[in-house]
Amino acid sequence: MIALINGLLALLRFAIGACVFSFINVVICRLPHGESVVRGRSHCPACGRTLTARELIPCVSFLIQKGKCSGCGSRISGRYLLGECIGGLAFLGCGAWFGYGEWGLLSLRGLLAFAYLAILMAVAGIDWDTRIIYDRFHIAILLLGAAALWLFPEHGFFDRLIGAGAVALPMLGLALCVEGAFGGGDIKLMAASGFLLGWKAIVVAMFLGLVSGGTYCLWMLARKRLSRKDRFAFGPFLAVGLAAALFWGDAIAKWYLSILQ
Ligand SMILES: [Zn+2]
Repeated sequence: MIALINGLLALLRFAIGACVFSFINVVICRLPHGESVVRGRSHCPACGRTLTARELIPCVSFLIQKGKCSGCGSRISGRYLLGECIGGLAFLGCGAWFGYGEWGLLSLRGLLAFAYLAILMAVAGIDWDTRIIYDRFHIAILLLGAAALWLFPEHGFFDRLIGAGAVALPMLGLALCVEGAFGGGDIKLMAASGFLLGWKAIVVAMFLGLVSGGTYCLWMLARKRLSRKDRFAFGPFLAVGLAAALFWGDAIAKWYLSILQ
C-alpha cells in the first residue's frame, strides 16, 4: 500500500515538473518571435489548428498521438516530449536532493533549484534555435542568487562574488583576444550562475560544459555535419554543465581538490 502511494506521489511530482517544462517549451517557441507566452492558445505550428485539452497533457498526448498532429498528421518535434520528461525528472531530482516540503511538494531549496533548471532549459532551447541568450534570464538567475544567500547559507557572499568572476572574467578575457571565442550571453550566464552556485561549482560547470560541447563538436566534425569555420551555440552545453554542477559541483570540486593533496 505504501509502495502504491509513493508511486502515485512520484507520478504526481513528475507530472508537475512536466507541466512546468511544457510551459518552458512554449517560452522557447514564442519568445524569439516576440509572441506572448501567456496569451494565445497553443496551436499546431503546421496547420494552425488550436489544440484541445486532450492534446495538451504533457508526455501522454505526444505518446498517444505517436508524435503527430491529430488534425493534419504532420510530425511534432520530439523536443517537446524531451523537454517535458526533463521537467518531470528535474522535479524529482530537486526533491530528492534538496528536500520536499509541505504537502509533499518541493522545499524552498528544492523550489529554487527547480526554478534554476527551468531557466537553464529556456536558455538552452532559445540559444540552440537563435544563438541568443536574453538578459532577462541572467537577471532571473541573479535574483535566485540573492534568494540563495538566505536559502543556501553554506555559500557565503564572498564565495558567490568570486564565483561570479571565476569563470566569466577568463571567458571575457579570451573573448576580447580571440574574436567570437564566447558570446556575451554565455559570459553573462556564467557570471550570474557563478553568483548562484559559488566558485567551486561554477568552475566544475565550465569544465563539464567544455567537455560536452567539445565532444559534440568533434562528433559533428567527424560526421562532416559541421565545418571548422562553423559556429554553434555553446549555451546548451553550458546549461548541461550548470545543471550537473547544481547537484554535484561541490562534491566533484571537493573530490578533485582531495586528490591534489
Ligand atoms: Zn496540424
